[in-house]
Amino acid sequence: TCVVDQLTGAWNRHAMHSKLVQELERMIRNKQSCSICMLDIDHFKHVNDSLGHIAGDQVLQAVVQFITAQLRKYDSIFRYGGEEFLLCLPNTTDTEAEPILNRLRANLEKLVIPLHDGKTISVTASFGVTVMSINKSIEETITMADHALLSAKANGRNNVCIWKV
Ligand code: GH3
Ligand code: MG
Ligand code: MG
Repeated sequence: TCVVDQLTGAWNRHAMHSKLVQELERMIRNKQSCSICMLDIDHFKHVNDSLGHIAGDQVLQAVVQFITAQLRKYDSIFRYGGEEFLLCLPNTTDTEAEPILNRLRANLEKLVIPLHDGKTISVTASFGVTVMSINKSIEETITMADHALLSAKANGRNNVCIWKV
């Protein structure tokens, strides 16, 4: 089975569940923390509407490339949906995740993305974070990260929101 998203090179959703189950088990065994982050590009529909679908695709590729370069080797990025990505940060508490993701957010904001037609564009993203727990299923963890993401959007976008359990 294909485990990589063809457009962006991120892991796809098929690869995600088994990877997260693995990380949950590892986290419990090693008595560590693992943070899960849902990231959604802000006003992405506007990118497509104003610059076209090809430009939109280029933005998705550039954002994944950029995030991958910023993360540690053992972190992973999955394409959860259209312009929504899940980040898995092993050995990271939510308190530790916050400044890491805030730096990522601030750096992304400054990224200038070259497009096929010679134009450039910059985008921002909103981040929702929660920690994995022995008491939560993977699905519940993702739901909490999603709630945090909705709060980040409601707070005006381009920010990081932590969901405390
Ligand atoms: P918000 O700030 O609330 O997240 O607004 P948004 O516009 O980013 O969110 P919305 O969900 O309304 O729009 C997401 C858009 O992403 C709509 C869809 O056309 C686009 N999209 C999804 N997948 C792809 C893709 O693979 N390529 C391109 N170019 N666009 C995509
Ligand atoms: Mg969006
Ligand atoms: Mg979305």
